[in-house]
Amino acid sequence: MAVTARTSWLEPRPGGLHCIPGDFYIDPVRSAERAVITHGHGDHARPGNHHVLATHETIAIAEARYGSRAGRSFQRVRYGETTRMGDVSIRLVSAGHVLGSAQVVLEHQGQRIVVSGDYKRSRDPTCAPFEVVTCDIFITEATFGLPVFRHPVAADEIARLLASVAATPDRCHLVGVYALGKAQRVIALLREAGYTDTIYLHGALQKLCALYQRLGVDLGDLALVEGLPKQALTGRIVMCPPSSLADRWARRMPDPVTAVASGWMRVRARAKQRGAELPLIISDHADWDELTATIREVEAGEIWVTHGREDALVHYARSIGREARALSLVGRDDEDDQDMEGIGAAVAGD
Ligand SMILES: [Zn+2]
Ligand SMILES: [Zn+2]
Repeated sequence: MAVTARTSWLEPRPGGLHCIPGDFYIDPVRSAERAVITHGHGDHARPGNHHVLATHETIAIAEARYGSRAGRSFQRVRYGETTRMGDVSIRLVSAGHVLGSAQVVLEHQGQRIVVSGDYKRSRDPTCAPFEVVTCDIFITEATFGLPVFRHPVAADEIARLLASVAATPDRCHLVGVYALGKAQRVIALLREAGYTDTIYLHGALQKLCALYQRLGVDLGDLALVEGLPKQALTGRIVMCPPSSLADRWARRMPDPVTAVASGWMRVRARAKQRGAELPLIISDHADWDELTATIREVEAGEIWVTHGREDALVHYARSIGREARALSLVGRDDEDDQDMEGIGAAVAGD
C-alpha cells in the first residue's frame, strides 16, 4: 500500500494519540472532549472524558469502574460498524486482549491507520479473537517486544495448576490475577479443562467477574472468600489480585500454594519477587512471535510502536523493509505489573 511517511493526520501528543481531522484522542492520558477508547484497562480507559466512543462492553467496564466519571455521553458501537467523526471514518475490530477490546481502524483521504491498542493472538475463551486488518500504518504495543518472550500455550499452564491442585489436596491454591481480563480468562480456561468446583474470589475480583457473566461469559460457580472459615478453602482454588498475595489477607488461606498468572512469570526474578511458588505464564499481551507475525500480516509500510520494549520491534520492522518509529507514549503501563520496567530493562541487557 502507498505510504505518506511522517506527515500524518494522526499525531502523538502528550495527551495521547490525537486524530487531527476528527478532533479526537485515542485512549487519552488526560481527559478529552472526544475520546475513542480501545479497552477497559486503566491505562487506556481513564475517567473524565466527555464524549466516549467504544464497544458496548468497554463502556460497561468503564461504568463499573468509574461510575458517573466514566464519561458524559457515550457512543456504543459493535465490531465492524463504521461511524464518522469529522472527516474520518472509524471502525472498531476485535483485538483479542480482554472482553470488548478493540483495534481502531481509521480512514482519511484514502489512507488507513490501525491503532491496535493492547492485543494478543493466542486463544482466549472470554473475548473475540484478534482480527487482521491490512493498513498503511499499523500502531502496535510492545509490552513483550523482545525475542526472549515466547508465551507457552495457556491451556498447558492451566494443566500445571490443576496437576498441583490434585497433588496437594491438603493445601489451597492462591492464584494472583489482574482483575480485568486475566481473572476471567484463567477461570474460563479452568472450566474448559473440566474443573467444575466452586472457584473462590477475593472481593476485589467480584464486580468484574459478575459483569463478564452478565455480558454472557460463562465462568461457572463462583463464591467470595469473605466470611468463610479457613478449613473451607482446603483443596480449593482461590483467586486474588497480585497485590493481595503478600497482604495480611493471604494469611487467612490454609497453607497456600502461591501461583501468579502473568506473562512476566517468564522472568525468574519476577516470579521470585512475587513469591510465586507456581508461576503460570499466561499473558493477555502478544509475545514476540505474535507481534512480529502481526506486523507481517497487516502489510503496513509503516509501523509505529507505542509502549513497552520498542527498540527490538522497531529494529525487526526495519529488517523486513518497513519504516518504523518508537512513539514512547507516556502513561501506558502493563496492567499485569506496573513496576516491571526495571526487570524488562534487565532482560533487554542480557
Ligand atoms: Zn490492556
Ligand atoms: Zn495497556
